Amino acid sequence: MLLGCIGDDFTGSTDLANMLVKGGMRTIQTIGVPQSPLAEDVDAVVVALKSRTNPAAEAITQSLAALAWLRQQGCRQFYFKYCSTFDSTPAGNIGPVTEALMDALLDLPNADFTIACPAFPENGRTIFRGYLFTGDTLLSESGMKDHPLTPMTDSNLVRVLQAQTRRKVGLIRYDTVASGAPAIRERIALLRRQGVAMAIVDAVSDADLVRIADACSDLPLVTAGSGIGLGLAQHYRNGGLLQSAEHAAAMPVQDGYAAVISGSCSVATNAQVGQWLQSRPGFRVDPLRIAAGEDSVAEAITWARPLLPVEPVLIYATSDATSVKAAQALLGVEHAGQLVETTLATIAQALVKNGVRKLVVAGGETAGAVVQALNVSALRIGPQIDPGVPWTLSQGEPPGVPRLALALKSGNFGAVDFFAKALAMVHRP
Ligand code: ADP
Repeated sequence: MLLGCIGDDFTGSTDLANMLVKGGMRTIQTIGVPQSPLAEDVDAVVVALKSRTNPAAEAITQSLAALAWLRQQGCRQFYFKYCSTFDSTPAGNIGPVTEALMDALLDLPNADFTIACPAFPENGRTIFRGYLFTGDTLLSESGMKDHPLTPMTDSNLVRVLQAQTRRKVGLIRYDTVASGAPAIRERIALLRRQGVAMAIVDAVSDADLVRIADACSDLPLVTAGSGIGLGLAQHYRNGGLLQSAEHAAAMPVQDGYAAVISGSCSVATNAQVGQWLQSRPGFRVDPLRIAAGEDSVAEAITWARPLLPVEPVLIYATSDATSVKAAQALLGVEHAGQLVETTLATIAQALVKNGVRKLVVAGGETAGAVVQALNVSALRIGPQIDPGVPWTLSQGEPPGVPRLALALKSGNFGAVDFFAKALAMVHRP
């Protein structure tokens, strides 16, 4: 195993796994830290945690458990993945988790230094002179300044990271990065002599990511968004270390029916649901009716059963902001969310009992609830549907439990025809 990754949230981990597969690495994503060794022969594993906004001590415990498991699998290099907008607060968790991982790797050569590079140029996240941009806007002027949990009010990542760690934070500037891997290595050596333990790295293009990955090949730990994953995969590929790069995304065809479950209320998902309903069947789940005691699961399945042999169905709670607010006002934000999540997850179980083997799920929290209800503990990453969202195949189910093709989309991802496009890749009516 070449690369062991620790992701601080579920859909961000899928984003990294998707990037590694695009770069030719056969990749598995696990949901939490697995209890047993990995059964399959792959090039990379991404352990998806839910640690981004936990108290730092908890995030550290989870991350160290993931690292210990990855070391047991024989990984050569380790990768701490966080958001490309560097989502964190002065209390953490990027700095504290990085420190803890560095300490735990101290028995390996070069573990006294690591990089921090959230750049993802394809998605408009670039870093120049240590400042992070989203598109043409500084991070602190973007929507991230108002994030409910991790408001980002300073775009200077050296300052942001320095506030989270006792170790010295430095910068590898764009002029060094543009000069190539040897110049970056020289700069790392100089920073080390100056007592720097972590360096923010400027990057504005995919070519920069490859140069950075080349220069970091002897660091046991890198910390980054998903972008550096692309550079690392290319580095391993150029070094002839990938056995079957051409087939990294291969996914066996699954028989069975297909369905879409949507619990996301994002602008993008509302448009995707609207597009689907213009020509295909859908069933709406309403939190107010669930709260009034109606059996929405039974109703949805009775509706879906005769349709499934004919065509894929959509079951959705997706609503516009006005109806969501109305439901939340009556039921409470958390209770409304929970009712819908539990109902959609139970519907997913019932759909699988009725022969569905290909399932698209929209919504980060919704996907988490569905995957848990279906007892899925790991996913083999397949071909990309839209940027950041791949098809996946469930792994390691007990005997008698069917294998599922799953496409798990977080709210704002995907083009307007995402559902039909995803199903066209795996489903022949
Ligand atoms: P996203 O990825 O777009 O954030 P999530 O699934 O993470 O989507 O979050 C959407 C949340 O909204 C979930 O908790 C879901 O149960 C809840 N929800 C879905 N539909 C409704 C609705 N009609 N009214 C209130 N809450 C809803």
